[in-house]
Amino acid sequence: MSFVESEERIALRRAVAEFGAKYGQDYFTAKARAGEKTTELWEEAGKLGYLGVAVPEEYGGGGGGIGDLAAVCEELAAAGCPLLLMVVSPAICATVIARFGTDEQKSKWLPGFADGTLKMAFAITEPDAGSNSHRLRTNVRRDGDEWVLNGGKTYISGVDEVDAVLVVSILETGPVLVVVPTDAEGFTWQEIEMDLFMPEKQFTLFFDDVRLPSDAVVGSPDQGLQQVFAGLNPERIMGASMGTGSARLAIAKAVKYAQERKVWDTPIGAHQGLAHPLAKVHVEVELARLMTQKAAALYDSGRDREAGEAANMAKYAAGEAIAAAVDQAIQIHGGNGLSREFGLASMLASSRLSRIAPVSREMVLNFVAQNSLKLPRSY
Ligand SMILES: Cc1cc2nc3c(=O)[nH]c(=O)nc-3n(C[C@H](O)[C@H](O)[C@H](O)COP(=O)(O)OP(=O)(O)OC[C@H]3O[C@@H](n4cnc5c(N)ncnc54)[C@H](O)[C@@H]3O)c2cc1C
Repeated sequence: MSFVESEERIALRRAVAEFGAKYGQDYFTAKARAGEKTTELWEEAGKLGYLGVAVPEEYGGGGGGIGDLAAVCEELAAAGCPLLLMVVSPAICATVIARFGTDEQKSKWLPGFADGTLKMAFAITEPDAGSNSHRLRTNVRRDGDEWVLNGGKTYISGVDEVDAVLVVSILETGPVLVVVPTDAEGFTWQEIEMDLFMPEKQFTLFFDDVRLPSDAVVGSPDQGLQQVFAGLNPERIMGASMGTGSARLAIAKAVKYAQERKVWDTPIGAHQGLAHPLAKVHVEVELARLMTQKAAALYDSGRDREAGEAANMAKYAAGEAIAAAVDQAIQIHGGNGLSREFGLASMLASSRLSRIAPVSREMVLNFVAQNSLKLPRSY
């Protein structure tokens, strides 16, 4: 057992942190404000192998695990570049296809994931189902050699910039994962206006008799449920990493300001009223990082069930830590906390995202209450 990351992981973190610093938060928020994408950042990260670090080597990837990909996501977020699509494209979609896809599906999709030239969104959330996945209605049926998809999804990230969407759909035997190219006939989408500082946009999707080829369903249809779970754990681990990375950025800004700003004779960081809450959120972020690393280590060693519990706990802890870190960092900055110059107010709405997505804080607590503590369900 080791609580220390490997030399390779530490070197990866260092290299990604240096790379992220080349772009930084100013670049990222300027793109978000202008309604532009962080295309050059994504492409360069892809070329350097960071986005494909967990794709198997035989398909051109780094052959690492979700722990490596989560480290990339965390370091980019800590550098001010939280890439929302990293949570879905390389983490869920590539992982599910690498684990469950047919040889043909792997050859078709994985090389693009390995170098970042392919992006895929992930769609499970439906307007009427919300957190209740038993209510999913988007359905797929066979018609000769083809599949026909009908239904809709909501709050799906990045659909305007991806090649395809991995859609959780219901077949008569249960859920299956279907790859839907964004240019498929009958597939349309509408942007949801958000007050979030993110280059990635959110969409409601409509599938109206979308006809798909026979290889559109990932792997074997009877493994659909297992595939969904295999994708959701990496999503939670990545969501947690994006949260802890952004929390580290907020804390770093707060520490710098607390050391420099003087309104009496000592820097404001000497006042315990500011120092203790900051120390507290730093502890909380470190605890969340530790649980995230544990969840990734369990996932990478094939222990899906234990990874599920740890990934939920990590996502919960990271969600609370980032919300508290940004809140406290703003407080430490006084009026400057809400100015554009200090880059904290723009983090406020997104600091709440980790409590809501990919699974809400309350649904994580439900999971822990029922599965870890064996308490009865209320719903
Ligand atoms: C920016 C953003 C990006 C997103 N990207 C994606 C994406 O790419 N793909 C995708 O599929 N989805 C995506 N989502 C959707 C996200 O996963 C959902 O918003 C989230 O799972 C919560 O579902 P909901 O919004 O329908 O809330 P609801 O399910 O309507 O819940 C509303 C509130 O009720 C609480 N609640 C519900 N049921 C219970 C219960 N039984 N016990 C206690 N409390 C309960 C919830 O915790 C929440 O606080 C994204 C969302 C956002 C905001």
